[in-house]
Amino acid sequence: MSRILIIEDEDSIADLEKDYLELSAFEVEVKHDGVEGLQSALEGNFDLIILDLMLPGADGFEICKKVREVKDTPIIMVSAKKDDIDKIRGLGLGADDYMTKPFSPSELVARVKAHLSRFERLTANGRPRNEVIEIRGLKIDRTARRIWVNDEEKQFTTKEFDLLAFLASNPNHVYSKEELFKNIWDMESVGDIATVTVHIKKIREKIEMDSSNPQYIETIWGVGYRFKI
Ligand code: CA
Repeated sequence: MSRILIIEDEDSIADLEKDYLELSAFEVEVKHDGVEGLQSALEGNFDLIILDLMLPGADGFEICKKVREVKDTPIIMVSAKKDDIDKIRGLGLGADDYMTKPFSPSELVARVKAHLSRFERLTANGRPRNEVIEIRGLKIDRTARRIWVNDEEKQFTTKEFDLLAFLASNPNHVYSKEELFKNIWDMESVGDIATVTVHIKKIREKIEMDSSNPQYIETIWGVGYRFKI
């Protein structure tokens, strides 16, 4: 299900947009001011943003610009003034579409669908989505090299990340410490397989609720480790 973020301070308009989009089976979240809206746009995982121009806190210009610095999420900007729409176009902020209020909700839904399918084609063709592994509360973005545990981002060293990503990419496969050392450290004899043990311990401290009863990386006594799914 596609997720839509509406940033709109007028309740009646926000409600109308939300109702129509939900009827079309979209999941919708509404933010009523610019600051909260910007935060959600940057941190949330939305497929499209409907952005009002005049907002308390931060206006649509600023939000659009900041989102574009980091994300390609399609943005439909809406404004009550036709002149403003022309101005936004002129600024080239990177919005994907513009609508002047009042507009028919069904037209909004049609445009949302069009932009979502266009964006999907784009990402499928030239800009692949990040390679993400999600297992229970653990999320590993291999492309961005970032890890979250129950939505909280955790910091990993390069080797900790490589080791965890390797194990999670090959679940239910038991690897000996020697194999892991060879795969991750890429040197057969330099170093010490105890390094693997130390790194597993550090990873567990970051991802496990209870390191002594691990839910992700299981110790197979006398053999090595296995990532459980
Ligand atoms: Ca407004």
